[in-house]
Parts: sequence; C-alpha cells; structure tokens
Amino acid sequence: MNTLTQAINVAPSDERCAKARESWRSSTVRKPIRAALGDMAAGLETCMYCGESRGTDIDHFDPIARNPLRAFDWLNHLLACSTCNSHQKRDRFPVDEDGNPLLVDPTSEDPFDHLLLTLSLGIYSPLTPKGKATIEVCGLNDRGLPRGRMQARRVVGLALRAWNEACEGNRSGEMLEHVHTVREQPFADVCQSMLRQAFSPGADVVFGDSPDLLALLRKPELREALLR
Ligand SMILES: [Zn+2]
Repeated sequence: MNTLTQAINVAPSDERCAKARESWRSSTVRKPIRAALGDMAAGLETCMYCGESRGTDIDHFDPIARNPLRAFDWLNHLLACSTCNSHQKRDRFPVDEDGNPLLVDPTSEDPFDHLLLTLSLGIYSPLTPKGKATIEVCGLNDRGLPRGRMQARRVVGLALRAWNEACEGNRSGEMLEHVHTVREQPFADVCQSMLRQAFSPGADVVFGDSPDLLALLRKPELREALLR
C-alpha cells in the first residue's frame, strides 16, 4: 500500500487525482479490502452509512478527488451501498472553518455522540455540527430510511421478547437463534441505539409504551450478547 501511495505522491500535483483513481481501479488490493470490510460490517455486510442495503462498494471516506494520497489508506475505506456511495455522499466532504472534517468517522468516532435516534419515528437528530452535516450529506432521514428503522425496532422488540421466553424455559438454542435474528437485521444502529437509550435519563419516557422491553434491554446477559 505504501508503494502505491508513493507512486501517487511522486506524480505532479495536478495529476495526482487521476493517477490515484487509475491505480485504485486497476489495483488487486480492492478484493481483500472488500472482504475485510465485509467481515467488519454489521448484519449481512450492510452499508456503513445507511445501515439498510448490502454494501457493494468501497467508499473513500475522504474522497479521492479531495485527498488522492488517502486512496490506499486502510482507515479511509468504508463499506457502502451503491446508492450511498455514488448518489448520496459522492465526493462531498464538508469541513469546518479550520479544515476539520464535519462528517462523523465511524472508524474512530462513536456516531451516537453526534446523532440521536428518535426510536418511535426512526429519525435522526443532530447533537453536534458534525451530526448535522452527516445527516445532510448521507441523507439519513431520506429514502424511506426512517420507516425501515421503525420496522427494525418492531422486529428487535419481537425477537427480544421471544429470547426472554426461551430464557425462562432454559432453551439456550432458541435464545441463540433470537440473538442471531437481531444481529443479522438491517439497521443494526436501531438495536444499538435501543441498548444505549435504555440507560439514558429519559429511558422511562422513550420506552413508555413497552416497560417490559426496557427491562429486557437492561439485562446484562442480553446486553453482552448484543453489544458490539
Ligand atoms: Zn447505504
């Protein structure tokens, strides 16, 4: 990878972007990178931006158009669906007035420090300027994604209650199956957000219509099985 970056670096500055794109397109490292990202992604290799669709593309978080020297930087690669990669985020990479990135970097930051998911609506609200830019650039509240998150919340609720019944009946095989159902769901962010909000100050209000689910989300055994 260093050799490839070096080859881009020695190109004249106005040719670096084209050189990086060409090297990336013809490189054999894309296949192992794609495989490694697939192993890291939640659920069935879902897109690291929307959490809904299968990740098919390797996205450059810091776009090649802006930073060709990061074309082969492992920490700059994310698994994305083609909609998020080619139509939504594209080459957009907003920065603040000091040049610091305004997109949440999921490889080094906790998205929930910047974004709050309203579970009953499936909608993200920003907690920080980074959160605001991320919602806008990634279209997190567009494309029917809120509806998909609401559906994910229902499926997670059903699976967790079924897990509890199996737990009370000492049926460990069934318990594992229900955990598997949750883990392989699209919108893994919904379950992760539920687990986090179960211990937030407003938890009793957030789970006001389902206190049994709140109790389940606080169970250490279940949390251990579901927290990434
Ligand atoms: Zn996507």
